[in-house]
Amino acid sequence: MAAPSRKAQMYVLLGGASTSVGALSLTGWLARSTGDFNVMGWYANYIIPIGPILVGLVAGSGYGIASWIRGVKITRGLLAAVLLLQCATYAYAQFDEYRTFAPAYEDGTPVPFTTYYDFVTRSIAFQSGAKEGKPLGAIGYGVRFLELLGFVFGAVFAPIVLKSKPYCERCSRYMKTRAVALVPAGLPPKQFKKEEYEAAEAYRKEQQTAFARGRGEAQGLLAAVLAGRMEEAHRLCAAAPVRKEIRQLTGRVAIDLSRCPSCSGGLLLARVFSGQGKDLRIESIGTVPLAPVAVRVLQPA
Ligand SMILES: [Zn+2]
Repeated sequence: MAAPSRKAQMYVLLGGASTSVGALSLTGWLARSTGDFNVMGWYANYIIPIGPILVGLVAGSGYGIASWIRGVKITRGLLAAVLLLQCATYAYAQFDEYRTFAPAYEDGTPVPFTTYYDFVTRSIAFQSGAKEGKPLGAIGYGVRFLELLGFVFGAVFAPIVLKSKPYCERCSRYMKTRAVALVPAGLPPKQFKKEEYEAAEAYRKEQQTAFARGRGEAQGLLAAVLAGRMEEAHRLCAAAPVRKEIRQLTGRVAIDLSRCPSCSGGLLLARVFSGQGKDLRIESIGTVPLAPVAVRVLQPA
């Protein structure tokens, strides 16, 4: 695998750095001009740093946008660089706040940054409704830590999403993905009462059979593509159109086609979905590389 060039990686880091500076200038400006509108201080349920996550998302959006436009693959090294840069940005924002505020003792000597930061951190207090809470003391450092965590998480969110997207190494571009087929591999969900033991057991068996059949069909499709039997592959795809009812079944196999906009080559990806909602399980059962001709055959109209 060819690692993205230095120049391309710098482009991504610069993209993120500029949106970070923009986001922090904006929050700093809001805090200064309104007096108490501190986005970085927004918390949900006292513990989820919503504000820092939001600011981090905006700040880090440049990393995602730049790597998407330039087709720079997000590698582990690049992700680590983004993480470090975001920590540095956060530290800089704290220092900038101090510099703007320029605290001084009564005799005019400036208060050192560390003293100021410690004081501000220990005086962090949560407000609930109109009631101002007590200063948190040392726990304030925990709040600061959450703030940093939220900010950094927000920033790496877009790069992490991109990292999981199919990528064409040859053209250095992200591929576009579309669903080509959805193979049923389950039954409509059903609830049984305790006394309906036999019916429940029959349902379970039928569900297992449907699961094995759907999975087998998808594997047959992958095998046909691998062997270059594209007509058969096309027929199998056409026999399992993407329909809403299938998504409701207890199991289904999603067949997705990723295509590189430059060379028209691509990938066929099969994933088994079982369960719904929070019980949802996703398992990849295979990825097959496709030549441009094969992409053309399988591409949905
Ligand atoms: Zn390509």
